[in-house]
Amino acid sequence: MKKNLLLIVIAAMLTLSACGNGSKDEKSTDPGAKSNEKSEVNLYTSRHYDVDDELYKSFEQQTGIKVNIIKDEADVLIERIKREGSATKADLLLTADVGRLYRAKEEGLLQPVSSDKLANQIPSKFRDTDDMWVGLTKRARILVYNKDKVKPEELSTYEALTEDKWKGRVLVRSSESVYNQSLLASFIEINGEEKAKEWAQGIVDNMARNPEGGDRDQAKGIAAGSGDIAIMNSYYFGQMLNSVDNEEVKIAESLGVFFPNQETTGAHVNISGAGVVKDSKNAENALKLLEFLTGDEAQVKFASANYEFPVNPGVEPSELLKSWGDFKEQDIPLSVLGENNAKAIITLNEVGWK
Ligand code: FE
Repeated sequence: MKKNLLLIVIAAMLTLSACGNGSKDEKSTDPGAKSNEKSEVNLYTSRHYDVDDELYKSFEQQTGIKVNIIKDEADVLIERIKREGSATKADLLLTADVGRLYRAKEEGLLQPVSSDKLANQIPSKFRDTDDMWVGLTKRARILVYNKDKVKPEELSTYEALTEDKWKGRVLVRSSESVYNQSLLASFIEINGEEKAKEWAQGIVDNMARNPEGGDRDQAKGIAAGSGDIAIMNSYYFGQMLNSVDNEEVKIAESLGVFFPNQETTGAHVNISGAGVVKDSKNAENALKLLEFLTGDEAQVKFASANYEFPVNPGVEPSELLKSWGDFKEQDIPLSVLGENNAKAIITLNEVGWK
């Protein structure tokens, strides 16, 4: 009996140690874990979408370069890179809006980066003139509306939303949102400061309520009867249509989509983008990540999983994006969204856009 028990104990110990070895073996086959211990890229990002993390994992598997991620608001990340100075660990700064990349460039925090691959994958319109940043995805600021109360024929331009007929019906988030700052910055460029201010005043006068919540909350506000038309980014509408939350799907399906200014200046388009940090210690890896994020695999994923438009003209938009049809975009260099950001903020404050 005793001998049998001893044998069982020994057998159990052997099994345990075998399991231990097994898991160690598994770890060592993890790509890049051992042989490329120093091969890494440190990413500071303000994007908050699940698809990004999936793409970084795929990049790690394909290149063996580990992606270390720090997420925060863009302004916080910019301040952090400034504070860290030449000791910064940041290699790549990624933001959801070009205005913040412009700011990082102006602060002298970025370095020029270029390659044939980047030039082939991103049209010059979506690259900084000094190669300090490149665009990764496009998003349009569109209108969504209550199909029972608004006919598409009644819609035309952002400007038309300031007409009296829309009094008390327009839903839009606060002026703290860089998306609204960039929208106004584009109008300052296209229509001049005075007209841009009149537009902002007209929107404030027609607001259905004081701005609250994010873009998706404006669409939800329509369903709740707070207003009839909302200004929001295109991908949020795509996210709602494909949400795991049935209520969001129902709301989105009850709304119409409209790309404004098609007969005039084109719809406002912004980009998510990234720039290599001036004091980067892994600039080559940062460039590789940029090339990956603007390549086919990532561009398809941004479109199919996050409903953003590809910047790479060789990649087709997803079915949903295609179903919205081709649309005309504003034809301005995107850096002006950054250049006019300060003016836009002052104007938004002056007209009382909360
Ligand atoms: Fe966003």
